[in-house]
Amino acid sequence: MLVCLILVPNQSVSASTLSDIPQTYEKEINYLIGKNIVTGYADGEFKPNQLVTRQEAATMIGKALKLDGAKPRQTVFSDVKPDSYASGYIQAANDKKIINGYADGTFGPTKNMTRLEMAYLITSAFKLNASNDVSFKDMPSNSNAAKAISAVTGAGVTNGYENGTFRPNNSITRLEFAIMLARALNPDYRIEPVKPSEPKPTEPTQPSEPEDSNETVKPSEPSEGTTMYVTTASLNVRSGPGTSYSKVGSLTKGNEVTTYEKTGDWVYMTSGKVSGYIHTSYISSQKPSLTKVIAIDPGHGGHDPGAVGNGLYEKNLTLGVALHLRDYLNNAGIKVVMTRSTDKFIALEDRVTIAENAGADTFVSLHMNAASSSASGTETYYTTSGTATRAESSKALAEFIQERLVDAIGSKDRGEKTANYKVIYKNPLPSVLVEMGFISNKEEANYINNHQKETAYAIYLGIQDYYKWQGK
Ligand SMILES: [Zn+2]
Repeated sequence: MLVCLILVPNQSVSASTLSDIPQTYEKEINYLIGKNIVTGYADGEFKPNQLVTRQEAATMIGKALKLDGAKPRQTVFSDVKPDSYASGYIQAANDKKIINGYADGTFGPTKNMTRLEMAYLITSAFKLNASNDVSFKDMPSNSNAAKAISAVTGAGVTNGYENGTFRPNNSITRLEFAIMLARALNPDYRIEPVKPSEPKPTEPTQPSEPEDSNETVKPSEPSEGTTMYVTTASLNVRSGPGTSYSKVGSLTKGNEVTTYEKTGDWVYMTSGKVSGYIHTSYISSQKPSLTKVIAIDPGHGGHDPGAVGNGLYEKNLTLGVALHLRDYLNNAGIKVVMTRSTDKFIALEDRVTIAENAGADTFVSLHMNAASSSASGTETYYTTSGTATRAESSKALAEFIQERLVDAIGSKDRGEKTANYKVIYKNPLPSVLVEMGFISNKEEANYINNHQKETAYAIYLGIQDYYKWQGK
């Protein structure tokens, strides 16, 4: 119903009587209304911030170019109904090669038109040529896209936003669409092409409320970008402020981004050739350290020997393996925080504090199991407590270490298990507790005692698998 109202001319409505047109753009809107290309809504509003669908865009451009499209008809697109109001204009525009569908043969009539699509549309409809010296902070790397943006900005149809961005993936609003179309049709309305390096705003920046008609459109947010850094291994960039918007790129930890206005928990940003919206939880003004820092926690120590069996102390085996593990990790450029590197007692909660204070990103606790003399095998514990990300990382780390250990020492695979051991449960880091083998089993205890280096190397490989999986 609303769709029809946009397009059905309402003779009684002109821009001066529409309540929500910014005065700055009254002449452009009046011009389009006079030509029956756009119209207001029956409630007396123009609704400048409403988004434009692709079928609405095709209809408006078709009317502007006086294409033969008023009558609905069959189109070449599988998703355009022959009796839909826009079908005639969609096919007419396609015949003139002004508008394209998607590679799969669809047109996406109800999808919102992006600003980049509008640039293509205006460029082909009005046969504009690309200007050489136009560039935006978020200029797409695709050369056709860059050409279309250079063409519309070089012709004075638009010059993007005050902060030197074009926001190609943003959906276009009715007001933006109307202004660009009016300027394309009538050169009197065109603006002086301004280089983005000395930006002068001509793009209305989405006022959140209807403007008083005596006021001009105010930019809604600061124009200067802020430098921030990505703090997570992989961060999706989206076409709008929410996870329902399509992914337009991705960033990795440490990437520098320039952020502009916020929408809820999302922010529009540019980073190199990538631009779009990212969630604000994963950026920080401080550059994150790219160095991997792992906490290695040899179980027990000092007056606490841990399990004792076959003449061996758990506290000595865990420390022996841990010291070799530290060397392997250090040699690979991974920073290691030892919760202890000598035979001393450390309380469980202090082990977590040591790791946290040293900036560790991951926590691995080493232990030996004990039961009857016949029990044998390797098992690795994690917990599902804490955030979903921590739980997922802990589980992956457990799987990687378990697999490498079982392969290396040929022990029975008792699997990854969940248990709320204090050092991994009350711990904000992805963490695991490895029971390397049974100290109560003579063969297994002796094997690990005599192969501390090999055991350490297997755990080291598991940790490397984990960092690779994380994308670090
Ligand atoms: Zn233990």
